[in-house]
Amino acid sequence: MRDQRRPHPRTRPAHASRPAPARAGSTARAPRPTRRPARRRRRPVAPLVVAGVVAACVIGAIAWGVTSLVGALSGGGARPATDGRPVVSDAAASGPGEIVIGVNGDEDTYVLVGEDYLEAGAHAAEPTDGVLNDKIEASGEVDTSKAGDYEVTYRVSDSAGHTAEATRTVHVVDEMPTMDGGVPILMYHYVYSADNPPESLDGNYLLDTKLEEQLAYLVENDFYFPSYPELQAFLQGTHSLPAKSVVLTFDDAEQGFLDVGIPILEKYQVPATSFVICSDENAAQKVVDYRSPYVSFQSHSFGLHQAGGTVGHGGLISALTKDEIVEDLEHAQQVVGATEAFAYPFGDVTADGQQAVREAGILCAFTTQNSWAHVGDDVTALPRVRISAEYELAGFVSLVSG
Ligand SMILES: [Zn+2]
Repeated sequence: MRDQRRPHPRTRPAHASRPAPARAGSTARAPRPTRRPARRRRRPVAPLVVAGVVAACVIGAIAWGVTSLVGALSGGGARPATDGRPVVSDAAASGPGEIVIGVNGDEDTYVLVGEDYLEAGAHAAEPTDGVLNDKIEASGEVDTSKAGDYEVTYRVSDSAGHTAEATRTVHVVDEMPTMDGGVPILMYHYVYSADNPPESLDGNYLLDTKLEEQLAYLVENDFYFPSYPELQAFLQGTHSLPAKSVVLTFDDAEQGFLDVGIPILEKYQVPATSFVICSDENAAQKVVDYRSPYVSFQSHSFGLHQAGGTVGHGGLISALTKDEIVEDLEHAQQVVGATEAFAYPFGDVTADGQQAVREAGILCAFTTQNSWAHVGDDVTALPRVRISAEYELAGFVSLVSG
């Protein structure tokens, strides 16, 4: 499988020549409906995929200067970071190296004055060190008592001293149209292109052009992509979400999603979650090889994605005790390096499973029950809207519209 790996985004020539997405081409678009206060347009996509990396490189060069680098090098290899500076172990260490970093949720975050800013963090990975999520440091202050734009910066260094960063703009607004009681969480599975179809097609296999059409619709219509802390608080009735919010999830981290789906998410700059079956022998490698600013890899369990139980679709979960499930979930969390979300294999849920989800610190867990999630729903067993391959755009639009 390794020879099928997608080249690293920073070195993939196609990135530089990709057409700008709809999001960047605002000149050709009709004015947005004023459903939310003026939202800053995102930067054009070609530079953006590596923007965090380039910016970090520049900042690194300024902050360190040639003298600092030489001094560190003469000191003989890696040393502990001091006063926030990156560790330096080689001449290239002021640059970003192979780190990819991205914010969790929407990089333009909206909060109503008087509500809490819910820090959703960021994700990062690098080939040698693997997932770096727990090494990311956030800085910046958000005052939700006062309307205005605030910046939160996420900075991470790898063991070789390379540093990369990503920035979230937090818009604190006096008012905005909000979701009314529910939100669609979309459940996708696999993605493929017409020139490389799977051997047996079923409703779970979505053609790449359809995914593009759907993402273009979401971007053109200024949808908002909440983080899991925001989603959890909204469903618990303590936080407002901007109107036209939607969450995208892709189950199984299937090869077509990795090879074909992720570049489309990057093209349209739409954040999504990939639920990884962590017992797959190359699961940890996938999380690193396909690292993307727009993909948060989360748990689809370690060993529960198999038959053996008696509930629902017969998934193994119903044959296990609560403690066994906790152990499995924590194992999976180590593989993906993240704890925010979980998708029950086959959608099979048990009371022990829900308790295990709570004990494993998961914010939102998802079934395959087909509907919007609503305020008051139990966040340990949330429904999702299934996106089937046969849907035309009009059907998709009605599924994401309130
Ligand atoms: Zn699955």
